[in-house]
Amino acid sequence: DAFVSVHPNAGLPNEFGEYDDTPEYMAKVLKSFAEDGLLNIVGGCCGTTPDHIRAIADAVAGIKPRIVPDLKPVLKLSGLEPLVVDDVTGFVNVGERCNVAGSAKFKNLIVAGEYQTALEIGRVQVENGAQIVDVNMDEAMLDANKEVVTFLNLIAGEPDIARVPLMIDSSKWDVIEAGLKCVQGKGVVNSISMKEGEAEFIAHAKKVLRYGAAVIVMAFDDKGQADSYERMISICERSYKVLTEKVGFAPEDIIFDPNIFPIATGIEEHRNFSVDYIRAVEWIKANLPYASVSGGVSNMSFSFRGNNPVREAMHSVFLYHAVKAGMNMGIVNAAQLTVYADIADDLRERVEDVVLNRNPEATERLLDVAEATRGQAAKETGPDLTWREQSVEKRLEHALVKGIADFVEQDTEEARQNATAPIDVIEGPLMDGMNVVGDLFGSGQMFLPQVVKSARVMKQAVAVLLPFIEAEKLASGGGSTSKGRILMATVKGDVHDIGKNIVGVVLQCNNFEVVDMGVMVPWTDILDKAAEIDADIIGLSGLITPSLEEMVIVAREMERRGMKTPLLIGGATTSKVHTAVKIAPAYSGPAVHVVDASRAVGVASKLLSPTDGQDYASDIRSEYEDMKIAHEASTRARELASLEKARANRVQIDWQAAPPPEPTFTGTRVFEDYPMDALVERIDWTPFFRTWELKGNYPAILDDAVVGETARSLFEDAQKMLKQILDEKWLTARAVIGFWPANAVGHDDVELYTNNDRTDVLDTVHFLRQQMVRSNDRANHCLADFVAPRETGVKDFIGGFAVTTGIGLDEKSAEFKAAHDDYSDILLKALADRLAEALAERLHERVRKDFWAYGAEEDLSNQDLIAEKYQGIRPAPGYPACPDHTEKSTLFKLLDATKATGIELTDSFAMMPTSSVSGFYFAHEEASYFGIGKIGKDQVEDYANRKALSVQETERWLAPNLGYTR
Ligand code: SAH
Repeated sequence: DAFVSVHPNAGLPNEFGEYDDTPEYMAKVLKSFAEDGLLNIVGGCCGTTPDHIRAIADAVAGIKPRIVPDLKPVLKLSGLEPLVVDDVTGFVNVGERCNVAGSAKFKNLIVAGEYQTALEIGRVQVENGAQIVDVNMDEAMLDANKEVVTFLNLIAGEPDIARVPLMIDSSKWDVIEAGLKCVQGKGVVNSISMKEGEAEFIAHAKKVLRYGAAVIVMAFDDKGQADSYERMISICERSYKVLTEKVGFAPEDIIFDPNIFPIATGIEEHRNFSVDYIRAVEWIKANLPYASVSGGVSNMSFSFRGNNPVREAMHSVFLYHAVKAGMNMGIVNAAQLTVYADIADDLRERVEDVVLNRNPEATERLLDVAEATRGQAAKETGPDLTWREQSVEKRLEHALVKGIADFVEQDTEEARQNATAPIDVIEGPLMDGMNVVGDLFGSGQMFLPQVVKSARVMKQAVAVLLPFIEAEKLASGGGSTSKGRILMATVKGDVHDIGKNIVGVVLQCNNFEVVDMGVMVPWTDILDKAAEIDADIIGLSGLITPSLEEMVIVAREMERRGMKTPLLIGGATTSKVHTAVKIAPAYSGPAVHVVDASRAVGVASKLLSPTDGQDYASDIRSEYEDMKIAHEASTRARELASLEKARANRVQIDWQAAPPPEPTFTGTRVFEDYPMDALVERIDWTPFFRTWELKGNYPAILDDAVVGETARSLFEDAQKMLKQILDEKWLTARAVIGFWPANAVGHDDVELYTNNDRTDVLDTVHFLRQQMVRSNDRANHCLADFVAPRETGVKDFIGGFAVTTGIGLDEKSAEFKAAHDDYSDILLKALADRLAEALAERLHERVRKDFWAYGAEEDLSNQDLIAEKYQGIRPAPGYPACPDHTEKSTLFKLLDATKATGIELTDSFAMMPTSSVSGFYFAHEEASYFGIGKIGKDQVEDYANRKALSVQETERWLAPNLGYTR
């Protein structure tokens, strides 16, 4: 819309930097431009000579210059690409999700510094149709100025986002100005107003003009926000005059926001807000030429938050009318707009009554349907349902074998009505189905996830029948048909759960009756309960090493009570050897270690078999006795280095070679609500499949010839639930990290200081040292060796962390349990564990890159992270390099971890909720994981002394590591 001047070079420079186009050639080309009416001014630049210009002038002489078109002023914005806001463009969607005030998810990502995942939100909006992206960092916890600059600069490197114009959204002028300096193209300022008077308004508008942006003007003046039609239009009119007459703003670069307020709030004064807005739009379009009108749409439905279907309907109805009136831009969630015509007639009418304020009962009438609309899921086109045409017995069997729970209630009810007694349904079709499942599982044709799904169907069917069976029992006094009653419990101090649940489910599938006492159960309760219910078997489970001692106590007490009930032992730290050496000798009844869920049925069946039970138990006993003898012989034969010798054989590190890196802060930093989105890509899936007893590494396991199909189906269910965990916020992640000045003292301890002068000791952490006899220059490791000894004078540091993703787990788990849905319960717990490990991994990465910042250059894939191809370690108390769980209490004190994260320690120093991880950070490049192995009495005594504990108690905590017999 101005003159077009063309003055080209005489071609591209050749290899000598000279220009080759001749005067004749240039004249010919430019003449054709002129003839096409494209030029107002013509000339030459590099490489042209007076001869060129003469030839061009001759060529174009007499040709009419381009006619400068008289264009209607329209709003033209740009990112990397232009956006012309005119009648052709229609309504322009402004993406609203990159807003810390409007999106909790985005806020958490920014607070946590997870910018890459935050950018993803921007990208998805553009993909979903946002034509402008609004960016808002106004939040008390953030330095908005800094965050806007960081985020806008990151966007500049993402062409998928930067392609659209940006809207810089802040109520603080200096934030807007900081943002204006970072946007490329022509963006929009959101917003300025006359809130602080006309002078300030003019000053800001002049700046916006200089930065070359368009501007949103809020209908605000020194009396406040316009909340009526009259105030809306009078403020807009006045702003328009000031901008166009006093500032020199182009009218097409002005966008009015006359204020969209919540309606249907139950407050009389709010009822006409939408009508006022729509009328104001109409007036602005008619009276303030070329100006645009925008607004934040989701605000109007605020009183229906939590009910997205109704909100979406309100937004489309509102937009339908406002756009008709001339609204040509709006801040909306483009992905969530329903089509006006697709809204159910009844809902649309009620919404329209509210938006257009047509009916005094409108709000109540909308509330009436809102409840029914909530969460109404769109019906998908279903899977193959031909199996539904079979007889009810066949349908039940199919549902059991395939694990389909959708029809189980109606089918069970139908089967019950056909049967003479409700128990016949269990003993007939249900048991038939479960027998198929049991056979397939036993023969390795079916795997644990499928069995647990089948069990869910079984349980839900039984739940339907149970009230009828109870009623009959009362009438007839009938008995139970179960193969046996098994009492299960995780011992005191331990919270191990998933594995025990799985075993319970598998046993139930095989017609055992299972009574699960849950976690952290003291032995008195276990034994009392066993007596009360007349248990046929007691199953104990535990995850952490102190539980091994606790299990020995249970066995001893069973012996004291003269019990003969078989005892099953299971869980991660338990082993056949430990059961043989420690538990079986304490109890004269059968004690059997069960290595995994698939073995539990076999062991339980054999133990309870009236014919073979005795033989089986005595076979096990003699096997275990042999094992004990062999074990004791090997313990006696094992040679351990003296503690003194082991210490002399420490890792040699030259502490003077380079100063240890200094963390960017000391003390702790808390992450109150760590964004889980950022964790998904950090998940290590291999252990997830192991939880379900599917062997193989991810991702290869998905294509495995044997378990591939099961793994894929499980993985699909996991992805679905993971999405729900994130979208519906089932779980909250919390974390705390800390760094402290630290030095190694007295061989195997690390002293932490409150100050970098190291004059004030904060606390001491204690480590153990390997005592195996070493050859080939291999050192006797101790974690303390990776921290500079105090006497070197070198200023070193140590870090610590505690993270959990288990907040909210118990509530959700209870919901699943109540619905007899063990499958979802176990899936959820397994996923929560994965997220906790992913959070530990992610934070460790950020510690190396940002917080301790010694690995800023690191750039590793998730596979490389899982393979620990980085500098530094995060050993966890209770794990092989530092097997003493009690050190967690020091770690927790240092981090104030319980207050910061909600994680609590049990009597045995297990963390609650499960799905928690804690440990120390060591930065030194030599730092590596190792196992302490067996230690001698000399070290136990020394360690007890350093920790001010009795030797006896120390032996109890370190029991699995004792290289001698107590
Ligand atoms: N990617 C795995 C990581 C868990 S195991 C997962 O998602 O499950 C790895 C963690 O266990 C380490 O980061 C460390 O905290 C702990 N760990 C492993 N070996 C250890 C050892 N020998 N001593 C102390 N802690 C150890």
